[in-house]
Amino acid sequence: MDEKNRAGSVTFLQEIIHPISVARLVMEKTPHVMLSGDGALQFALENGFDRQNLLTEKAKQAWEEWKVKSQYKPVINLENHDTVGLLAMDRMGNIAGGCSTSGLAYKLHGRVGDSPIIGAGLFVDNEVGACVATGLGEMVMRTLSSFLVVELMRNGISPRQACEEAIRRIVKRNQDFRDFQVAVIAINKSGEYGAYAIQPGFSFAIHTQSGNELINSESHL
Ligand code: ASP
Repeated sequence: MDEKNRAGSVTFLQEIIHPISVARLVMEKTPHVMLSGDGALQFALENGFDRQNLLTEKAKQAWEEWKVKSQYKPVINLENHDTVGLLAMDRMGNIAGGCSTSGLAYKLHGRVGDSPIIGAGLFVDNEVGACVATGLGEMVMRTLSSFLVVELMRNGISPRQACEEAIRRIVKRNQDFRDFQVAVIAINKSGEYGAYAIQPGFSFAIHTQSGNELINSESHL
């Protein structure tokens, strides 16, 4: 999502190594926001992306082991979540953001998470700021966390406080919050940033002209 309020995403796109680049083309080259499944794949192939089998031997083995019991219990906790989110501000103060994920392991076929849903996994409003989420997508989608954080910042609270409030809403509505992770990161128009998570152990990286810093996020637990 960019500073001009343009957005692009892809869902259920298989066998393409960098789906975020396809999402960017959806934003730049089509009148749409989201392409899914076969249509997304067709669009990617027509735009020069190569199709390849991305299943690693390790993942295949883990899946074979899982199939023995086929216990349907998709978990996103500290060890199992992989969304990469990025919020960027240029020297003119313009804000853009992106995120990419493999989603959830051992999910129902066709399950889509929060990351490609604009407003849930990512939201940018160049007048206010931006937010990106990681963790159990269902929780993020149900509370529209990224949009919520941006709207809270619009009302004047800091990125850190806005992130805490978005996490608080998830915790409040889910008694089992100890069993899953959700974390959000935000930046505002002044370049202030903040994050908050349910579980401890979530860290985020800041890159500025003065260097790089890895920061441990505060958390509810
Ligand atoms: N948010 C992603 C999803 O629910 C998963 C993750 O953060 O790893 O699809």
